[in-house]
Amino acid sequence: MASKNLDVDVAVVGAGVIGCMTAREILARSPGTSVMVLDRDMTGSGATRRSAGLHFPRGAVERVRRMSAYSQDYYAKLLALHPDLPVHPLPMTVIAAEASGAALRGVYLDSAQLRRSTPDPDGRIRIPPGSAAWQGEGCQYADVHALTQFLSRRLRGPVSVRESVRVDEVRPEQDAVVLRLGTGETVTAGRAVLAPGPWLAAPAWKDLVAPLNARVKKVVAMHIGVRPGKDDHAIVLHDEDAFLLPRYNEGRWLFSYTCQEWDVDPESVADGLSRENLSEARAVLGRYAPGLVEHCVSGRVFCDAFSPGGAPLVTSLDGHGRLVFAGAANGSGYRLAPAIAAEAVGLLNLPHHGEKDQS
Ligand SMILES: Cc1cc2nc3c(=O)[nH]c(=O)nc-3n(C[C@H](O)[C@H](O)[C@H](O)COP(=O)(O)OP(=O)(O)OC[C@H]3O[C@@H](n4cnc5c(N)ncnc54)[C@H](O)[C@@H]3O)c2cc1C
Repeated sequence: MASKNLDVDVAVVGAGVIGCMTAREILARSPGTSVMVLDRDMTGSGATRRSAGLHFPRGAVERVRRMSAYSQDYYAKLLALHPDLPVHPLPMTVIAAEASGAALRGVYLDSAQLRRSTPDPDGRIRIPPGSAAWQGEGCQYADVHALTQFLSRRLRGPVSVRESVRVDEVRPEQDAVVLRLGTGETVTAGRAVLAPGPWLAAPAWKDLVAPLNARVKKVVAMHIGVRPGKDDHAIVLHDEDAFLLPRYNEGRWLFSYTCQEWDVDPESVADGLSRENLSEARAVLGRYAPGLVEHCVSGRVFCDAFSPGGAPLVTSLDGHGRLVFAGAANGSGYRLAPAIAAEAVGLLNLPHHGEKDQS
């Protein structure tokens, strides 16, 4: 319970997958804590709603590999507890330059058990000259929006989830964080977590977040109107930073490639695919699956926050853990969300249940 000068122990701003995972983690670690989750829109309506939802067991840097392993294990346990969860394990094939076997083993987790393979028995996927294929374990994909709804549903009751309530000001003070809301109300929280996805430039926290040097980039995943076969793998085009994902639950493939449009505004980027997006996507796809190019005509477009170092940013914004930023996951916010939430809650230094908050 919040002390008498506080409205709530912890406020979480942003009800995307990272905000909801963070609220869940707070309750898991410190069950008596009062939590309020605030979102200017409905739960999971930001980057989360458009996510391709692929988890693959890798990380370009050691911290991301650790986060990837932690999150993979977390989702596996969650799925074991809730078999109806929209999380679908599937095999993975990685296509990369033939000479990169040793390098790949440094990037993919040991548990992925990468081994050389021949891809795709039905011949849909072409391996370009000089490239080779490896098969690996530990891949899954999710309907991230539905997963976030699931998390949010289970939070209701112990957590106050306030949707369509915009946060207009975040003011860290000595003993509290004061939030001014679009409704005219003020919430005084003992601590707060900012999980704003790509809304880094919201007036409420623009100046607080600017020193992190995170940027917002457009993210594009194309829909391929071809039904996947029952044994299809996720195909990771390692050297292209792209992937093909059989989304069985949607009866189609999804193709994600790396779009290089930086410093976009989440309010306008949702306008849809541009001529450039379509031709860039088709050019990459054509090198690996020429037969799918004609079916690549629509997609999902939004943006995400990217960090300077390639690892998510989970950091105190006020120097003493009252206000924590959690995000900038570089287009991997679904697959790393459990680890991001764990780090964020670790920084909050929450009192254990029954322990009085002395800070
Ligand atoms: C097309 C696409 C494909 C992707 N594919 C993958 C993938 O395959 N694998 C993967 O791991 N990741 C993928 N991602 C990235 C992943 O979806 C994101 O990293 C993740 O959803 C970010 O979650 P979040 O909770 O930080 O942000 P969001 O889901 O954007 O949530 C932030 C929330 O903050 C709210 N908010 C903003 N301003 C305010 C305010 N002033 N007051 C209150 N609330 C506010 C917003 O309404 C929003 O709901 C993809 C992203 C996109 C766009």
